[in-house]
Amino acid sequence: MGKKEFRDYVCRPFCMFFKTGSKEYLACQAALVIERLVERGQLNPDTLPKQKGPHLWEKRDPFLERVICETCSFRSDDCDYQSSTPPPGAEPCGGYLLLAFLKQEMLVNTADLMTLSEE
Ligand code: SF4
Repeated sequence: MGKKEFRDYVCRPFCMFFKTGSKEYLACQAALVIERLVERGQLNPDTLPKQKGPHLWEKRDPFLERVICETCSFRSDDCDYQSSTPPPGAEPCGGYLLLAFLKQEMLVNTADLMTLSEE
């Protein structure tokens, strides 16, 4: 089996913005950070949850917003969740909600996230 790409374990299963065949080459900052965790051997994609739930994003995470979203190239134009007037029911991208899960389960620490976000 070939190397798994982040689109297969982050975007396709978790991201409401992902559309097969449309701009698949683009990646948000959260997906890039998760990919770096996997490349460093700090995260096994097979251990990620199989389902998402609003408990992961209803309470906003100021740390993720500052360290991840502020450096995301999708933030200014494409991200409803981080817009100044988010529509009702807006979800973050799949990468953000997986990082929220990993933080909640203490499977990643904030120092690593800050370092990986600056690479
Ligand atoms: S929630 Fe939006 S701004 Fe934050 S990483 Fe995801 S796409 Fe980028």
